[in-house]
Order: sequence, then C-alpha cells, then structure tokens
Amino acid sequence: MLMNKKRLLITIIVLLIALIIGIVFITAGRQKPAVLDSKVQMTAFNAGLETKAHAPGYGTTYEIFVYSFCDSDGDGIGDINGIRSKLDYIEDLGFDAIWLTPVHPSPTYHKYDVTDYFAIDPVFGTLEDYEALIAECHERGISVIMDMVLNHTSTEHGWFKEASDYLRELPDDWEPDSSYCQYFDYYNFSRESKEGYAPLEGTNWYYEARFWSGMPDLNLSSTKVRDEVGYILDFWIKKGVDGFRLDAVTSYWTGDPDGNVNFLRFFCDTARSIDPDTYIVGEAWTDRANIAILYSSGIDSLFNFPFAGQEGIICNILRGSNSASDYVKALNSSDDAYRSANPSYIDAPFYTNHDMARSAGYYALDQGPQTKMSYALSLLMSGNSYVYYGEEIGMKGSGKDENKRAPMYWSDDPDDPDVCAGPPDMDEVKMKFPSLKDQQEDELSIYSWFKQVIKVRNAFPAISMGKARLDETVSGDTVAAFFKECNGEDPVYIVINLSEETKTLSIAPDGMELSAVLNTNEEKIVFENGTLTLPSYSIAIFS
Ligand code: CA
Repeated sequence: MLMNKKRLLITIIVLLIALIIGIVFITAGRQKPAVLDSKVQMTAFNAGLETKAHAPGYGTTYEIFVYSFCDSDGDGIGDINGIRSKLDYIEDLGFDAIWLTPVHPSPTYHKYDVTDYFAIDPVFGTLEDYEALIAECHERGISVIMDMVLNHTSTEHGWFKEASDYLRELPDDWEPDSSYCQYFDYYNFSRESKEGYAPLEGTNWYYEARFWSGMPDLNLSSTKVRDEVGYILDFWIKKGVDGFRLDAVTSYWTGDPDGNVNFLRFFCDTARSIDPDTYIVGEAWTDRANIAILYSSGIDSLFNFPFAGQEGIICNILRGSNSASDYVKALNSSDDAYRSANPSYIDAPFYTNHDMARSAGYYALDQGPQTKMSYALSLLMSGNSYVYYGEEIGMKGSGKDENKRAPMYWSDDPDDPDVCAGPPDMDEVKMKFPSLKDQQEDELSIYSWFKQVIKVRNAFPAISMGKARLDETVSGDTVAAFFKECNGEDPVYIVINLSEETKTLSIAPDGMELSAVLNTNEEKIVFENGTLTLPSYSIAIFS
C-alpha cells in the first residue's frame, strides 16, 4: 500500500514535469516563430528592437530628387503628391526626416536655378500640396528639409531680368546707379571680363556665373539681398519647414572662406531668430580642413564629403586601400577637426547624392555584400545620416548627371503609375539589382539590409550620438571593432567583418550582450564564452 502511494506520487511528479516542459516548449515556440521560419538570422534576432528617442538633429534623412521619385498625376514627372503617397514607405524604412531637392519654380528639371523663392514649381504641385506634405510629415514625426539655392538664381529670375534690362538701356558712358534699379546690386556685374564671368547679351557688361551662364551668382554682401533672404526664410519657416539644405556654400565667395563663413553666420542667425530650432546643413564639396573652417560659422551640419563617393574613405576601406581600423581613426580625426570649430556640430554623413555616381557601380564584381557594408559604415556614423533615394535598393546610375537621377525603381511593371519618366536626356540606365517590389520579398536584398541597419541605428542612440573608441586588440586590416559612447546613453560595442572569410575573434565587450546582428548571408553570428564567430561581411552589435 505504501509502495503504491510512492509510485503514484512519482508518476504524478513525472507527469507534472513533462507538462511543464511541454508548456515551456510550446510557449517558446509561440514567442519566437520567426526563429523557426527565417533563414536569415537578423530578421528574427532584431525583431524586438525598438526605436529610441535621440537628441534633435541626430536622425536619418532621406534625400528625394523630386523630379524622379514618384509621379501622382500621370505626366511622368515626380511631384509633391507623389512624395505624400510614399510617406508610409519612408517611415517604414526608419527615416525621420526628408530633404527634397529644390521645389521652387525654375526652367530646369533639377530646379537648382530658381525664378521665384516664394512659390512651388507647378510641375511639382501647389503651395497647398507642399503645406499638406509638411502637415502629414509632422503627424508622423518626420521633419522636412528644404533645399535653398542662394549662391545664384536663374537668369529668368525677375531680379536678373530687371537688372539686365537696366544695363541694356544704360548709355555706355554712364555709371550704373542702384537708386534707379536696385537689382543692379543683387548680382556681380563688371565691365571687365573675369574668370567665372559671362557676357551679358546686348551690352558690354559681364556678370559672375560660376556654374554656367544660366546661373548668375547673387551678390550676397548686398544688404538688400540679405533682406530678401530674411523674407524667404520667414515665409517658409512659418509654413512649417524644419530645416534648410544650403546649396554650394563654397561658391558664395569663390576662394574666400571668410566671406562664406560670414554669410553662413548671417543665414543661421536669421533663421534661428525666426525659429531657434531650425536645422541647417550646408553643401561644401571640399576637404576636411575647409569644412572645419565653415563650421566656425555656427552652422549645425556640413555634409561629410571626405567619407563619401567613389574616392572617399569608406570606398577606399571596402576596396582594401585602407584598413578597417582606419575607419574608426578617420571618425575620430574628423570629429576632432569639426568639434574644435563648432562644439555643438552635428555631423552629416552620407555615401552618395544626386551629383555622384551611384554606389552599386563602385564594386564591379560585388553581388551585394560590399554595397551593403559601405552603407552600413555610413549609417553607423554619428550625426544626421543622409541616404539618397534609390540607394536603398542599389540602383545604378553614373556618367552624366541625368543618369544619377534615374526614376525610382518601384517595380518592373511598365504600367506602374508611380514610376517617373526620368530627366530629359537621360541614357537608358541598366539596373544591377531587382526592383523594390521584388526586393521587399527577399530577406537578403539590399532593401532588407537597409531596413535592418536603420532599425539598429534607431534602437541604440549611442550609434548616432556617440563618440567612437577603437578596440585596438581586435581591429585590423579587415575587422573594425569599436565602442560608441555618449553621456546619458547606454554604450554599444560594434564589430565589423569586411573580409570574405569568417572571423573567429576573442572579444571582451565589457559585460555587454550580443544585441543586434547584421548578416549579408545565411551564416549565423555566434557569441559564446568570449569568442565571436563573425561570418564574411557581417556586423555584431553588443549593448
Ligand atoms: Ca507628376
């Protein structure tokens, strides 16, 4: 009898244990079904990552070339309402700001020669469309950055036409008088032919036009021109624009950095006097030393050109001309140079823009991993990181400017109404990677990679706000290992394998755990007992 009771008790205990194991097993299976379904580790591993708040300006911005992005009305030209229809797409990718190339009326497709700073080009839509875009962006927490081209106008701008008409009527032996025509002061006219000057038709005068004769340079030292800039800023900031991207700031005064600093300071002071939170980023296509000089103006951001493009630091590392550890060293020297000029600067990393060949053409034999890793190096930089539309699907485009601005490759469907016709005179651009529609189905596509990298960037604010510290014991020619640290945020430790072989690395990430993975293939990233197994072209993030 006693024996039977004992047996019954044991049987009950065994059954209970089996039941508990069963429940645990089923629950685990239910909690992480993606682990079982996904063949790519990052899809499941990063599934629980959530976006955390960052300081203003330290976000991720999508550059939209308006003419080629999305057509809403069937004329083949991208427009404001097309952009509005793609805000779900932009938000889903993890961007929290958009920069639109110029939207003001202009005779060209690119609109970098403005005829009216207070209006929207009718091919792009109406002022009401633009205001609706701003409102919808703000509802989603997306900022809108307006491209502001102030180095020059179009020759068809009313200011230039009035000044030209005045000079055409002015007798040759008379001195011009701006009290008769104030617009004479708006540009740089000269009776002598000089470098960078073009002849004014029907007169013996010349005017400064550094880019081409259709783009006369404004006289930015004129008080009246500066007043106009104030009216323009007031108009758009009150419409809700959050920031401005300043075109060609090194050409304000060609070869005179002090003049450029002076105008940038005026611009920033004027904008901030209207709204202190206005964000300003400048295009200074130059080297680190010259960018640092311009930071002394107090401008928030200047694009970090030395890291970008086919000749930049990132591409050189991917090509093997520089070591992986040089990436972190370059981050530090760049930060030192800019921070000493403006302690509150926000870096503006990017990899390509509308003036550069697209990155998918940089590595001839690459089937994806190198293109992906180069973009990760850009997106893991601190500051406000910029991505040119179409780069998230590895679009192609090089040679003439029009080819760099090919229609966003939404799908292969020739009847897809969203797909634009592209700039006039564009060559046929042959794509290397599939359309967005196809890439969205593929966990290993360029698109899926971008989404994961931005997700990781958004989940760990130390990535966009922190300072990099090289881990010299692990880093080398093809491995970059570094901490990113900033006050008030949890630090992260990042290990990047830029080689074609799997690396087995002994690491000591200060008690941190493997928290996110970025894979370019189906091999798993594993961290066990201080040993990190990092497959070819992959990234491990610890926190
Ligand atoms: Ca259209």
